[in-house]
Amino acid sequence: MRRTAAKLADGREIIYFDDTPDAPPRTAVDTRDLPESQPHSEVRRDPLTGEWVAMAAHRQTRTYKPPADLCPLCPTAPGKPTEIPESSYDVAVFENRFPSLAEHVPDVPSTVDGMPMVHRAAGRGRCEVVCFTSDHNTSFGELTPHRVRTVVDVWADRTEAFAEVPGVAQVFPFENRGEEIGVTLHHPHGQIYGYPFVTPKTERMLSVAGEYFAEHGTHVMGDVLAAERAAGTRIIAEGEHWTAFVPAAARWPVEVHVVPHRQVPDLPALTDAERDDFAHLYLRVLHMMDALYDRPLPYIAAWHQAPVRTGRDLSWLHLEVFSVLRTKDKLKYLAGSESGMGVWINDVTPEQIAERLRGS
Ligand SMILES: [Zn+2]
Repeated sequence: MRRTAAKLADGREIIYFDDTPDAPPRTAVDTRDLPESQPHSEVRRDPLTGEWVAMAAHRQTRTYKPPADLCPLCPTAPGKPTEIPESSYDVAVFENRFPSLAEHVPDVPSTVDGMPMVHRAAGRGRCEVVCFTSDHNTSFGELTPHRVRTVVDVWADRTEAFAEVPGVAQVFPFENRGEEIGVTLHHPHGQIYGYPFVTPKTERMLSVAGEYFAEHGTHVMGDVLAAERAAGTRIIAEGEHWTAFVPAAARWPVEVHVVPHRQVPDLPALTDAERDDFAHLYLRVLHMMDALYDRPLPYIAAWHQAPVRTGRDLSWLHLEVFSVLRTKDKLKYLAGSESGMGVWINDVTPEQIAERLRGS
């Protein structure tokens, strides 16, 4: 892999990651007349749940809209400048122009309206866009294993870089795919968020992992993985270093966890062999998911990794992939029980989901 960093016209960083060192040199200059990016973002802490909420309501104070027919993630063509100045690329990463969290945002008062129980802070963090390919009309599942391996290296590189950003407490690489998820840009891409706090889900998982470790002296994920592999009923694919299975208490109509066989806190800790094996296994999983309803499956793929400074011994890196699609054309809505109380009700059993994924 070869890494080339540059700046966009408004000062944002762009980094090209090429599959091989002999890719064309990445020297193109961003010729757009872009106003300077001035992100506004703040976070407020819910005094009843203790959870932080990010507010980026002012993020479009200065309008810059590319022409509707121009995909901003495609390479630049003559007369059609995009977010990516090069005329081709393998993987390109750049800072989001309208970020939910950013390094340079204005200070805010430490409480909301002077209410001492409602903490408030500037939304300091970082948001990046990761373009997986310059080909507009493809998907992650159709990438080559070599390219997926490059993407894994990119996620690891960015996880390390985000950890150096002042205030970032957790790094979250993810992909939203499909209109049903609310994706407006069809170009294959993902995002990376660097949060200024540990996310509620990660805090909860670390708390459970800590209690389990205190009682059993082992990692709950390691024991789950061993038990799933012994039972076999929910396994959909196995590699030398990773296993993919439908979790025994799956929430979503389609849900798969891709888990390394060894406890590693985060993506940078993976060996070359583990990264290669992931690329092959994950592509198999995505093919199964697209074959399930014989259509491109809308999904969210979410990396769970250790916070930057805490819980590194207890965290077990893994990828959770799930879909809101419960039949070929019916969506699962997050209704009263899910949205109001956080209690998921699943129409299918995890064993049925696994069987359908394996069989398709
Ligand atoms: Zn495109």
